Amino acid sequence: MTSAGRFAPSPSGELHVGNLRTAMLAWLFARSMGRQFLLRVEDLDRARAGAEAVQLRDLEAVGVTWDGAVVRQTARSALYGAAIERLTKAGLTYECFCTRREIQDAPSAPHSPQGAYPGTCRNLSTAELEIRRASRPAAIRLRSETAEWTVEDRLHGSYTGVVDDFVLRRNDGVTAYNLAVVVDDAEQGVDQVVRGDDLLSSTPRQAYLASLLGLPIPEYAHVPLVLNRYGARLAKRDGAVTLGELAAVGLAAGEVRDVILQSLGLPAGELGEALGSFDPARLPRGPWIWNGIQQPTLRKGA
Ligand code: GLU
Repeated sequence: MTSAGRFAPSPSGELHVGNLRTAMLAWLFARSMGRQFLLRVEDLDRARAGAEAVQLRDLEAVGVTWDGAVVRQTARSALYGAAIERLTKAGLTYECFCTRREIQDAPSAPHSPQGAYPGTCRNLSTAELEIRRASRPAAIRLRSETAEWTVEDRLHGSYTGVVDDFVLRRNDGVTAYNLAVVVDDAEQGVDQVVRGDDLLSSTPRQAYLASLLGLPIPEYAHVPLVLNRYGARLAKRDGAVTLGELAAVGLAAGEVRDVILQSLGLPAGELGEALGSFDPARLPRGPWIWNGIQQPTLRKGA
């Protein structure tokens, strides 16, 4: 079995400097530890025509290369279906007919944390099921047997988070991210998951699901996001943030790569040359604040 790291972008638009920084980190983690590096396009949802090609080109432009062919989630429905079937056979799923509104308005179950699914459809009788099935298509939820789960993260240490009856397949038939990511990582031999720390809170759900499916739990490292000068997540409205936009204001891809490397305390230059200095223990733990192209490190000759 391969030992691999990966980057798994959703092709919803162009990657910004924050996404590129996460990709470079995932590459450095994997390569510095002798792993392969895989690229998986998470196109089940939010895919925009043309976005994938631009994302792949931009990743290569900052030195993020990958082994083997790019994998696309839309080609893997059979794998996801098989996993859901296994869980269903084990009595670990149920059909849910709730609308978003109904979930919002439902009184939360005693002791269940905010935002957790209240379990409305967990114990429907056969008669109730028949009636609901006639009115709307069902989503499939996990029948979770725990309320929380603990994962080990290389940067965050031991992290305990909520596990509710989360959705495995939406009622429009699309596989949910939490199921697809677990199935894919295991099937692709990914034993190291490096991604933005906005996904840390989803990780206990994913690790629990992997354990139910008898799949190995990868090593996790959730890396700090890039924030704008107001402390909010970097977004399109923060000015020139993609390679295309930065090129238009005079900053070549190699220069953007160098600025990102410097923000990580690593030497500027080809990404591969940073491998020798890369030490996860010495990574900055806080978010990187992107001040736009006014920031001194981005001014040519500064
Ligand atoms: N596709 C997800 C995203 O772009 C990342 C999923 C992951 O790395 O697990 O936010």
